[in-house]
Amino acid sequence: MIKIGFKDLMLSKEILKAIEDMGFEEPSPIQARAIPILMEGKDVIGQAQTGTGKTAAFGIPVLEKIKSENKKLQALILCPTRELAIQVSEELRRLSKYKNNIKILPIYGGQPIERQIKALKKGIHIIVGTPGRVMDHMRRNTLNMDNINIAILDEADEMLDMGFRDDIEKILKEIPKERQTVMFSATMPKPILELTKKYQKNPQLVKVVHKQLTVPNIEQIYFEVKEKTKLEVLSRLIDMYNPKLSLVFCNTKKRVDELVSQLQGRGYFADGLHGDMKQSQRDKVMAKFRNGTIEILVATDVAARGIDVYDVEAVFNYDLPRDEEYYVHRIGRTGRAGKAGRAFNFVVGKEIYKLKEIQKYTKTKIVRQDIPTINDVEE
Ligand code: ADP
Ligand code: MG
Repeated sequence: MIKIGFKDLMLSKEILKAIEDMGFEEPSPIQARAIPILMEGKDVIGQAQTGTGKTAAFGIPVLEKIKSENKKLQALILCPTRELAIQVSEELRRLSKYKNNIKILPIYGGQPIERQIKALKKGIHIIVGTPGRVMDHMRRNTLNMDNINIAILDEADEMLDMGFRDDIEKILKEIPKERQTVMFSATMPKPILELTKKYQKNPQLVKVVHKQLTVPNIEQIYFEVKEKTKLEVLSRLIDMYNPKLSLVFCNTKKRVDELVSQLQGRGYFADGLHGDMKQSQRDKVMAKFRNGTIEILVATDVAARGIDVYDVEAVFNYDLPRDEEYYVHRIGRTGRAGKAGRAFNFVVGKEIYKLKEIQKYTKTKIVRQDIPTINDVEE
C-alpha cells in the first residue's frame, strides 16, 4: 500500500509548517482519507475510535477553507462538553499558528455570556461550541449564522447520548442549506444515521474501525476486590506502576468526592471532576492535570467525556461502568496517539458477569491478576 504523507494532501505551507511543529509525522488513517474529501467540499460521515486524530481530520480542512479577510462567521463546530470545546479550539489554534489572522472562539455554558458576546463582535471565523450555549446565543440574536458554510458535529454519538438532538436539529436548520455538513463519531448508532439522512447531502462514509473496539496498545487487567479494600488496592497499584497521570472513574459524584479526600489524606496529588462543579473550578482542575500538578484525577463519566491528556498512563475503573459503551470511552482516555496505557478494573463479587459482558462487547480479553502485596509495591 502506498503511504500517504501530509505533503500529498494539497495543504497550504502554513498548515504543513504547523503540523510539523506539532510533531505529526504522518496523517492517521482517518486523516489521510477524510481530509481530501472534505477539501473537495463534500459531506462526510467519519467513524474512527477515540484517539485516532479526528479533530485534525476536520480541523485542517476547516482552517484551509476560511477566508480570513472576510470577518464573518464561516464555520461552526459542535461538541458535547465544555472541556471538549476548549480542547478542540486549542488544537485548531495550534494548527492555525501560521494562519494567525483566523479567529477561533470556544463558546460554552458556565462562562459569562457577555464576554462571549463581546468577543463575537470582534469578528470570529470559527466557533467551537456546546449545543446548549450555541442555542442561547441564537435566542439572543448574538450569532450571525448567515455566512456559515461548514457545520461539524464532533463526537456526534456522545452529543445524542447527552440529549442534544433537538438543539442540534434547531441549530442545523438555522444554517444556510448551501453548506458542507460533517459528522464525526466513534460509533454509528441509528439516531446518527437518521440525522445524516436529514441534514447531509450525499455523504461519503469514511470508516476506520479496528476489529476490536478498544485500542490495542492498552493492557487490560482486572482484580477481584471487596468494596472496602478498593482504596488500598488503588494505592498499591499507583505506588507499584507509578503512572505519570492516572484517571480514576467512579459512578457517582459523591463517590468522586469521597475518594478524592481519601487519596489526599494518603498524601497523593489527587483532585476530582464532576458535573456539580463550577466551570472555573473544572477548568482549573483540568489545567493542573495537564501540567502534572494533579497526578490522579477522579471523575464521573460525563465529566471525563472526550478528555484528551497525553500523559494518562493508567485508567482505573474504581467502579465498573454501568454500560459497556462507557467502558470503551473510559479506557480510550489512555493509550492516546499510540502511547502504551493500562486499564485496571475493580470487580466486586457478582460484577464478574458485568466484566464478561464488557469483554464480549469489546471483543477483547481482560486478564485477571492477583492484588499486589505490600512487598510487590516496595520492590
Ligand atoms: P479523537 O478525536 O479521534 O479521539 P484527537 O483528535 O483528540 O482524537 O487526537 C488524539 C491525539 O493525537 C491528540 O493529542 C492529537 O494532537 C494527536 N494527533 C492527531 N493527529 C496526529 C498525527 N497525525 N500524528 C501524531 N499525533 C496526532
Ligand atoms: Mg475527538
